[in-house]
Amino acid sequence: MQKEVAVIGGGISGMVAAYEAKKLGVKNVRLYEKTNRLGGALKTTTLGGVQVEEGADAFLARVPEGIELCKELEIEEHELFSPTTAKVLLLGSEGFYELIQPQVLGVPLDPNSEMSEEIRNELLIDLEREEIQADNRKPNEKTVGGFVRSRIGNLIYERQVAPLLSAISASNPDLLDLDVTTPIFSNLKNSPSLIKGLQNTAVTANTKKSAPVFYAPKKGMSEIVEGLSKKLYEELNSVELETSIQSLSEIPADAHILAIPAFSVAKLLANSNIDSETSKDMLLEIEFASVGMVQLVYKAQNSKDILPERFKGASGALVLAEKNLNITAVSFSSQKWGKASDSEVLRVSVGKHNADAIVEKSDEEILKIVLGELAKEFQIEATPKASRITRWRKSFPQYFPGHTQKLEVIKDALKKQNIFLAGSSLNGVGIPACIRSGREAALALLS
Ligand SMILES: Cc1cc2nc3c(=O)[nH]c(=O)nc-3n(C[C@H](O)[C@H](O)[C@H](O)COP(=O)(O)OP(=O)(O)OC[C@H]3O[C@@H](n4cnc5c(N)ncnc54)[C@H](O)[C@@H]3O)c2cc1C
Repeated sequence: MQKEVAVIGGGISGMVAAYEAKKLGVKNVRLYEKTNRLGGALKTTTLGGVQVEEGADAFLARVPEGIELCKELEIEEHELFSPTTAKVLLLGSEGFYELIQPQVLGVPLDPNSEMSEEIRNELLIDLEREEIQADNRKPNEKTVGGFVRSRIGNLIYERQVAPLLSAISASNPDLLDLDVTTPIFSNLKNSPSLIKGLQNTAVTANTKKSAPVFYAPKKGMSEIVEGLSKKLYEELNSVELETSIQSLSEIPADAHILAIPAFSVAKLLANSNIDSETSKDMLLEIEFASVGMVQLVYKAQNSKDILPERFKGASGALVLAEKNLNITAVSFSSQKWGKASDSEVLRVSVGKHNADAIVEKSDEEILKIVLGELAKEFQIEATPKASRITRWRKSFPQYFPGHTQKLEVIKDALKKQNIFLAGSSLNGVGIPACIRSGREAALALLS
C-alpha cells in the first residue's frame, strides 16, 4: 500500500478517487484542483432566482454507482428527483415527432406501442430472429451505429437511437465504440434479438415498471459535490484549490492519480519527463468535443406561457443532425422535473464533435443564434428575463473503436511508474462511469 498519494483533478472522478484512497487506508492523500471550486462538470448555480445546472443535470439510475454514492453521502432516495415525464420530442427535417416509449437508448421495447407500420416491421424482424446471422458479425459492429443498424435497421437507428446517443455523447454514434459508449448493447452481442435481450435485462424490467431512468438531488448536482467535499476536507491531508499542476515533480508522492482529461495527462507526462512517449501519443489521439450550455430563464406562470402546445408535458426536444442547427437539444426544465415555479427554465445545448466552433463565439453571438433558432424552429418566441452561457471546452471525449485496448496499453505503462488514471477519458462520460473510474484508480493502488 502506498503511503502518500497525490490526486490531480477535483471533478467527480478525482474526488471519488481521493475519498476511496483514504478509505482504503492510504495515510496521506492530497487533492489538487486548478479552479477555485471542486466538482468540475457538476455545477449548480442560481439564475434569475431559480436553481440551474450549468453542467450535468442528472445521473443514470440503472447503473449503481450514482445512487450508491448518494447513499454514502446520506442523500436518501426521497431527496432525489426524477423526471416526471418520459415524453421526448425529436426534430428532424420533416418536423417534430415523439420518441417511441418504452425504450432503452432509443430502442423501442414494445411493438404494440404507437408507431408506424414500417418501424413495427423492423421491430418484428428483430424480435423473431432466432439466431445471429453471419453478416451480423461484420467488422462495423465495433461501432454503435454498425451494431444497432444491423440488428434493428437503419430507420429506427436514425430516428430513435442516433439522436438520443448523439445528445448524450456530443457525437455521431456511427463513429463511436460499441463497448465503451453503450455497454448495455454490447452485452447483448450474443443475443439473436436485441429487443428481447433488452426486455430480459433486469434493468429493462425496471424501465417497464416505469422506475426512474434518471436521478438528481433535489438541491442540485452540487449537493453531491458538497457531500464529497465535506468528507474530503475532514479526511484528506490537504485539498488545494487554484493549483494547476504542470509537472508531477511539483507534488512528489509514492503514487499519483491523474483524474484530468487525456490531453492534460499527455501534457503533464511530457512536462514531468516521464518515459512514456507511446502513452503520450496515444493519449493525444483521443479527440474531444466542446459544448455550450445556454440557460434561459423566462417569467412564466406555467410553461404554456412560453412553450407551444406541442411541447406540453415533454421533458425536452432533441435535434437530428440532418437539421444542421447549432442547437442540439433543449430541456424544458420545469416540465421535466415537475417543478412548480413562476419561471420556466430552458437548458439549451450547442456544439458537438466536428461542429463546436459556436462555443468560441461571444456570449452575445451565441445568445442571438440560440434565440433565433428557438423562434424559427421551435416557435419559442418569448424573451428570457435572464440568461447564462457556460462553455465546456473539450469536455466530451470521443470513444472511437480501439479505445479500450489503447487505454489498457497506456494504463499498464503508467502503472509501472505508480501513475494511475481516472476520469471521463477512460470508460464513459456519464457520472456513474466517472465514479467507477475513481474507485478503480484507488483500488489499483493496492496492486
Ligand atoms: C454540459 C455537460 C452536461 C453533462 N450532462 C450529464 C448528465 O446529465 N449526466 C451525466 O451522467 N453526465 C453528464 N455529463 C458528463 C459528466 O458530467 C462528466 O463526464 C463528468 O462530470 C466528468 O468528471 P471528471 O471528474 O472526469 O472530469 P471534470 O469534471 O472535467 O473534472 C476534471 C477537473 O480537473 C481539473 N484539472 C484539469 N487539469 C488540471 C491540472 N493540471 N491541475 C489541477 N487540476 C486540473 C479541472 O479544473 C476539473 O475540475 C455532462 C457534461 C457536461 C460538460
